[in-house]
Amino acid sequence: METKKKDIRALTREQLRDFFVKNGDKAFRGNQVYEWLWQKSAHSFDVMTNISKETRDMLEANFVINHIKVDVMQRSTDGTIKNAVRLHDDLIVESVLIPTKTRTTACVSSQVGCSLDCKFCATARLKRMRNLNPDEIYDQVVAIDNESRLYFDRPLSNIVFMGMGEPLMNYNNVLKAIDKITSKDGLGISPKRITVSTSGVPKMIRKMADEEVKFNLAVSLHSAIDDIRTSIMPFNATFTLADLREALAYWYSKTKSRITYEYVVWKGINDRQKDVDALVNFCRFAPSKVNLIEYNPIDDGEFQQASNTAIEMYVNALERNNIIVTVRRSRGKDIDAACGQLANKT
Ligand code: SF4
Repeated sequence: METKKKDIRALTREQLRDFFVKNGDKAFRGNQVYEWLWQKSAHSFDVMTNISKETRDMLEANFVINHIKVDVMQRSTDGTIKNAVRLHDDLIVESVLIPTKTRTTACVSSQVGCSLDCKFCATARLKRMRNLNPDEIYDQVVAIDNESRLYFDRPLSNIVFMGMGEPLMNYNNVLKAIDKITSKDGLGISPKRITVSTSGVPKMIRKMADEEVKFNLAVSLHSAIDDIRTSIMPFNATFTLADLREALAYWYSKTKSRITYEYVVWKGINDRQKDVDALVNFCRFAPSKVNLIEYNPIDDGEFQQASNTAIEMYVNALERNNIIVTVRRSRGKDIDAACGQLANKT
């Protein structure tokens, strides 16, 4: 009977060293293989040329490398690149490279589909099928780093967990992936260049605060009025704004890190003065930054971008209250790569 082979990248460096010792080899062989797997992103055992053929055959007999494969790569007229990424079980997720003059940002997925049900989001239409493993998240970053070097002649500079899925619903794997992305064994990218964007899961925000993580936190807020937020993000009925605010205050007390809010202004939903006032009030407890993001329609017409006057109303009120505010144009709209548009349409 054929036994299922284990994914070799689920082993730590120590476990890999132990494996070689138990099989009558030297522990440093584990280091060599580990480097191939993580620093050189080997897709097969064959490429491990400083390992004997006999040892590579033995690895092949015991393990698999469940590497992702970029199935389709699309380039937008504005330079944005979207990858449709095939996983070892043939499920597909998407990740995006966003270039600007000064930086290249990877927007990566953390789940296949999403269990939350944000009404404005294309990913919400795909039911959550599974969490991504740490190596599947890591591979998306490596693929985008390679594309950044190839097409823009510079390494990836920033990473945002804003693709498919709610990262805090796959907390352990997201943290393991970030460990690998930031470690010298992996890509050595500073945690200060990584932002985890959540729709706001209070319990997990507290856990992150307790673990004193070093990356940045962004919250997709979109309304600071419970009824309205619940109508567009139904889980807000369970994780209310008061709970979220308390968890964020705890986060700030522990990390002293400024909180970023992602906020889309929609016509007829959150474009009134009282929506603006509620946001200003919500932000008061800690240093905050609000990114007002341009909306990308997802073809059902229910949500429409608010007028420039409404955006200006937000900008003026936030600035008057010393809250940093930016207005963000979305990128990659022509290839459905913009915020909230990732839905495996390719
Ligand atoms: S916005 Fe994020 S959390 Fe909400 S449904 Fe979409 S992917 Fe899930």
